[in-house]
Amino acid sequence: MNEESRAFGYLCPECGKAVTGVRDPFTLATSDAAIACECGGAVLRTRYDGSRYRISVPCGLCGGTHTAVCTPEQILRGAVALACTKTGQFSCFIGPAGTVERQMKELSILAEKERQDGRETAFLDNVIMYEVLSELKEIAARPDGITCRCGSRDWKMQIRRSAVDLICADCGGRLRVPAATDRDLDDLCCHLRLVIPGRV
Ligand SMILES: [Zn+2]
Ligand SMILES: [Zn+2]
Ligand SMILES: [Zn+2]
Repeated sequence: MNEESRAFGYLCPECGKAVTGVRDPFTLATSDAAIACECGGAVLRTRYDGSRYRISVPCGLCGGTHTAVCTPEQILRGAVALACTKTGQFSCFIGPAGTVERQMKELSILAEKERQDGRETAFLDNVIMYEVLSELKEIAARPDGITCRCGSRDWKMQIRRSAVDLICADCGGRLRVPAATDRDLDDLCCHLRLVIPGRV
């Protein structure tokens, strides 16, 4: 790779992967570039109109497409970070390959973290879910608070949008505890103990 090579980096909104494409300045000045994700779901395009570069960037942060206008100086020699207009965070980097690679790594980490935050707040009712989880914790703290009919005391928890599943680690039996309404919480609070309906 020659040192003057220019890299374009963005996150694919379809598959979430970091996409980096490298072009040499001569090619960029003489033809339009299309940098596609290998999943085929997104393409970054540049168009040079003789004085400015118009760039359309698929945005992995908001899922949309943003356009930006850059000077030849920025595209062929400088380093540019383009921000997503919805989230205010940089979602595309243009510059020397090493710099862009580093920035893309950070962007991937950021995007992954946001996906996880999104999951955490994806409950139907956050307050009820919180109450149900703390009630379950109390039940689990009692002797034989949560057991399986198969005799096992070993279980794991799977949190869903409007319920919590208690799953027996031995037989795979499953007890669904609804966590959507006040009523669900009242029902749960009547139980001193919970028994997973496992295989007998
Ligand atoms: Zn993709
Ligand atoms: Zn965006
Ligand atoms: Zn069991």
